[in-house]
Amino acid sequence: MSESMSFSQLALPEPILRAVTELGYEHPSPIQEAAIPKLLAGEDLLGQAQTGTGKTAAFALPLLARLDPKQSEPQILVLAPTRELAIQVAEAFQAYARYMPEFHVLPLYGGQNYSTQLRSLKRGSQVIVGTPGRILDHLDRGTLVLDKLRAIVLDEADEMLRMGFIDDVQTIMDATPEGRQVAMFSATMPPQIRAIAQKHLGGAQEVKIESKTSTVERIQQRYVMLDGNQKLDALTRVLEGEEYDAAIIFVRTKSATEEISEKLGARGYAVACLNGDMNQAHREQTIRRLKADQLDVIVATDVAARGLDVERISLVVNYDIPYDSEAYVHRIGRTGRAGREGKAILFVSPRERRLLRTIEHATRQPIEKMSLPSGQVIEQRRIESFRATLAQTIEAQNLSFFQDLINEWRDSMETTDADLAAALLYLAQKDQPLNVASQFPEIREPHSRDRDTGDRPRRERFERGDRPERSGDRAERGPRPPRREMKGDYTTYRIEVGKEHGVRAGDIVGAIANEANIDSQFIGNIKLFDHFSTVELPASMPNEIFQHLKKVYVRKQKLNISVDTGAPASASGERRPAGPGPRPGAAPRPPRKPRD
Ligand code: AMP
Repeated sequence: MSESMSFSQLALPEPILRAVTELGYEHPSPIQEAAIPKLLAGEDLLGQAQTGTGKTAAFALPLLARLDPKQSEPQILVLAPTRELAIQVAEAFQAYARYMPEFHVLPLYGGQNYSTQLRSLKRGSQVIVGTPGRILDHLDRGTLVLDKLRAIVLDEADEMLRMGFIDDVQTIMDATPEGRQVAMFSATMPPQIRAIAQKHLGGAQEVKIESKTSTVERIQQRYVMLDGNQKLDALTRVLEGEEYDAAIIFVRTKSATEEISEKLGARGYAVACLNGDMNQAHREQTIRRLKADQLDVIVATDVAARGLDVERISLVVNYDIPYDSEAYVHRIGRTGRAGREGKAILFVSPRERRLLRTIEHATRQPIEKMSLPSGQVIEQRRIESFRATLAQTIEAQNLSFFQDLINEWRDSMETTDADLAAALLYLAQKDQPLNVASQFPEIREPHSRDRDTGDRPRRERFERGDRPERSGDRAERGPRPPRREMKGDYTTYRIEVGKEHGVRAGDIVGAIANEANIDSQFIGNIKLFDHFSTVELPASMPNEIFQHLKKVYVRKQKLNISVDTGAPASASGERRPAGPGPRPGAAPRPPRKPRD
């Protein structure tokens, strides 16, 4: 994290700067600092960056700055592996371009009605964000013309490779005009990605955020895997269930510092925020109040909390994941001051899992998975804390006035001391009820799309139908389309595209994932035969998806999906493989079916 860089130093046009400021961004993230000047200068770029590092703004801001607002034909094309990401990237463009008049961005993805897309295409959009299959379809139909394209972005290139889109990506790249700018972002750099980079990005510089190794001691580090929309609930549980003296909560934007401190304030916490908008006097006053026990919780951005040295801080919550390991080390270093013990908790969404591993690697320390305090734990803590206050009050207060009242009430009401005490306790706890175990349902861990992590058995992930957030700030990005919830067994389907059409398993996964909006991890084994293929899909797949998949094209073949009967294929006499054992023509990919 650089000390001095601000967005205004990046030579971005005023309308874009205004939008970024309004979104509450205080400083560019490391990948933005590195990428924005290069892309603004028209250079090609190869960026190694994971979700959570701010990579979307790293390409969207400079490319928007280079748009010709007078021209309504597509000037920027972003290719993304999934419809979810395409929508999010399109929403990010919209948010950054909110002060650019006549700006239009259009997401194009499988599963969406063609006529709607055609109408939108006719209206004209300067930025198109789409999944490769659908973009290729529109190019083939002549409904998308890229003559005026100035830049193409390959977002999550390694993911597109994994989903079998890479040939489509190549074809699309070849259809773009010479001299267009190319930016490619990938979390990993497998050889195929390097090869594409070499072919299309020639001498482009690689931008990579180096993770410096730094050690942190005396700090217990844990993480919680959750969706963005569970964070606030999780935070209140952490603050109730964990032992701490004072806590600091790290978020990305100044708007988030305000929003969260308001919400915690409403829940009774002595809380204030620290952000880049505050002047020095205000900042110092807040720190003084924290040191003097007048505040217990601070909600801060990275830069505003730089150098904060308050012994009382014994808990750091990384509400939004830091951009890199350096920021992480700096954040958690706010605790464990003056030789004290400290605790750090990191909220991670499934898509940010890679960033978590990068941080772990760079700090050479394991960050342990934790579960959030349960309703029982919270109830127990509230009871203990009430009891402690009670004991203190009995010890420290002169209660004779109240004792006289109790004696009088007990006699006049013909009741007992125990009943009176219970009724008073009931009234006293109303603002923060004690009997709450059942009011805190279990926060379930979302399942992950990342197949390389696997610290939880497949079956368990499969049964959780909900989809992970892509990243923290859902409110900023608007609602996401519901993902299909698929439970239960698999059925084998036959699709009418096979090896002779040049199909590969990845093509099928990509098409089904996007067209049917089925998470690719719910797509089971795929077997390729000469004239057709079989694919295992959840038996609970609704009929409407089945009907839709019949009409989907892969490698120019209509899938015409049908339930596989295992009969020999008529023309060729190809036999269906029987039982387990080596499978002729089995696709070269690991089985996707959840294991029992
Ligand atoms: P990405 O890595 O592109 O998925 O971005 C992750 C999240 O970081 C998104 O919610 C962005 O809105 C947010 N973000 C990106 N850049 C910044 C920045 N400079 N300051 C604050 N938040 C940012």
